[in-house]
Amino acid sequence: MVKQTDGGAGNDESAEQSLRMVSAAPIEGEPVSDEELRPQDLEGFIGQPRLKAQLDLFLKAARKRDVAPDHILLAGPPGLGKTTLAMIVAHELEVPIRITSGPAVQHAGDLASILSSLEAGEVLFIDEIHRLPRAAEELLYIAMEDFRVDVMVGKGPGASSIPLTLPRFTVIGATTREGMLPSPLRARFGFTAHLDFYPPQELERLVARSSKVLGIDVTGAACTQLSRRSRGTPRIANRLLRRVRDWAVVHDLSQVGPEDVKEALALYQIDSEGLDRLDLAVLDAIVRSFEGGPVGLNNLAAMVGEEAETVETVCEPYLVREGFLVRTPKGRVATAKAWEHLGLKPREDVTKLF
Ligand code: ADP
Repeated sequence: MVKQTDGGAGNDESAEQSLRMVSAAPIEGEPVSDEELRPQDLEGFIGQPRLKAQLDLFLKAARKRDVAPDHILLAGPPGLGKTTLAMIVAHELEVPIRITSGPAVQHAGDLASILSSLEAGEVLFIDEIHRLPRAAEELLYIAMEDFRVDVMVGKGPGASSIPLTLPRFTVIGATTREGMLPSPLRARFGFTAHLDFYPPQELERLVARSSKVLGIDVTGAACTQLSRRSRGTPRIANRLLRRVRDWAVVHDLSQVGPEDVKEALALYQIDSEGLDRLDLAVLDAIVRSFEGGPVGLNNLAAMVGEEAETVETVCEPYLVREGFLVRTPKGRVATAKAWEHLGLKPREDVTKLF
């Protein structure tokens, strides 16, 4: 049973980013909960084998001891399965889950009322836990450690606080910025997991599973093409798959092959490496306008007509991770791989630039 305590999790990213097909954050209007494609149990959760084995042991032990497990922290970039795992934990423990997020809790009182209504064993999922207001964070420390919350009664000078004992419950916190969590809060989690980007083989399995759920026949080679364009991120893989399904429906295809994936996604300007229009504009500007760099972030952003923050937080992490771009103290430099991807011969001294 899922109880949502607010209108949905907020996200750190700008409106501009959420318009991008290859954004790891949910796009507005997209089914955020995405129930249909969410695996229900650990067995259905693709990839992340070590994390799955750890969590399996952790949950089995709690079930055998018949106690609510320690609090769990899930850290990692958006779209990698943190919410999904929280739901799986509740499902495996056969307990209800309450969902909220740091930005949805505006006052400590909001959190106090959620905490004081939790049932024994319930899972409280707090997305973007690093964005909780300070006063709510302090209230949460006590609730997590002592299973107690101080409820304020009355107003003004006559106000007093009454300690309320809570049943044992499990907090699952999710964060994309683990470094922003204060250490007292971090210390209250008995189990911390870091989710990593998925290797292509795992994304292929994920696309194959999702296409079965969506009822489309996608060949193995088409799954490979899709997974290569998904930037290591399940949410992107599922989103691209839905667009490929549109293509299959409109073209009356009984089976989707690799050429269909290429053509369907080319419509959205997503290329063979998962780079979109903005990523390519950034690389193109560095290579053609700045001879490969180094170029400062602000100059680069002005050149592609974007906010510096968008270039820095949206494009660069993937371009750096995939070896297209290097950040140096003097600015951004395009690698030989970037030149070649644009169909150009790298300048001779390209490696001396970084
Ligand atoms: P996060 O909370 O980290 O932003 P979600 O849990 O909402 O990410 O996952 C985004 C989408 O990707 C969901 O539709 C989910 O079903 C799917 N997904 C994520 N990880 C996996 C996985 N390991 N196996 C299968 N589907 C996954």
